Amino acid sequence: MDSKKRKGGAEKVRESKKKTRKCVKLNQHHSKGLTSAAALEDSRAVENVAGAGGDRSAVGAESSVSEVVAGISAARDPRRPRTSAEGKDTSDTEQRVKIAELSKSSVCMKEPERVNEILTSMRNSGSSTLQVISDFDMTLTRFAYNGKRCPTCHNILENDKLISEECQAELQNLLDTYYPIEIDCTRSPEEKLPLMVEWWTKAHDLLVQQKIKKADLALVVRESEARLRDGYKEFFKHLNDTCVPLLIFSAGIGDVLEEVIRQADVFFSNVKVVSNYMDFDESGVLRAFKGQLIHIYNKREGALLNTQHFQELHSRSNVLLLGDSLGDLNMSDGVSDLQNILTIGYLNDKVDERRQSYLNSYDVVLVKDESMEVPNAILRYITGH
Ligand SMILES: [Mg+2]
Repeated sequence: MDSKKRKGGAEKVRESKKKTRKCVKLNQHHSKGLTSAAALEDSRAVENVAGAGGDRSAVGAESSVSEVVAGISAARDPRRPRTSAEGKDTSDTEQRVKIAELSKSSVCMKEPERVNEILTSMRNSGSSTLQVISDFDMTLTRFAYNGKRCPTCHNILENDKLISEECQAELQNLLDTYYPIEIDCTRSPEEKLPLMVEWWTKAHDLLVQQKIKKADLALVVRESEARLRDGYKEFFKHLNDTCVPLLIFSAGIGDVLEEVIRQADVFFSNVKVVSNYMDFDESGVLRAFKGQLIHIYNKREGALLNTQHFQELHSRSNVLLLGDSLGDLNMSDGVSDLQNILTIGYLNDKVDERRQSYLNSYDVVLVKDESMEVPNAILRYITGH
């Protein structure tokens, strides 16, 4: 949402000036290096890592904590962008990453030394070069709570106040048919793509038939069991406080997504949402969905459609990407002059079948981890705050 719509003119100008001063100050601060407080925090983190004896049995390509903090240079996947740390003296790359949270039992990394290298490079570049791109459903929101699945944006609409029982049953049938395909690691993305389009299209057609009223969306979101992951407030607030833009790139429904983060009080002006938006008629009744469909396997096309957004952020060549599906890795495809990218993947479901493909694809894999603890710790490290 545009901040103009949320704030009065004078207040907005005052806040904008204040924020600009703050951002300049933050960036100056970062260029001078760490404060003693931050350095102290780092030294504590080292102690925590040294003392961490967490269960790492869940780690796929197991890596000891000492390997996680070791700054050795690694063989690089040629598909990956070159990090600015590469090609420099060993003394540059030997800086140690001191993030205690990376020793959590839910954390798996195939190449911890590469993660170390990227983190070091991103931290050295400073928060003024950072942007965050995140998926929404099951990435910023929880997958389960108290043993029960949490709803996606689409699921939130499955409320008696909005749609009939018949429609709910039909949507459930679609889920039962297509979700196993979505997470089937024996099928290629190419094979899944037309089936995902089929799923989204059928679901949207059903929703349009229900003549959903815009005015009812806030209520059904409030009544839903959608939950942002633990630690979400710190995540959104930290990005806003450090002036780091957050792009939420979702195959869900933008109107619902916005309502979720608005009700959680974290829809700050640094947040931009790219998603499927509803098109309401003059009387506020749903008549269609706007623009090109975004589904889980066409985020690359969606990213390329938003090149203007990425061009505006051309100086932010370091990307922290969060997702929960392999298709989410394409969300950064529109970023120009990409220097470093660190990808964090939530592996929520079918863990054993999908562990290896996630380890091969994401830098950091979080297995059945319902919190934002690791992304938050990484953000604190990169931004130095
Ligand atoms: Mg998702």
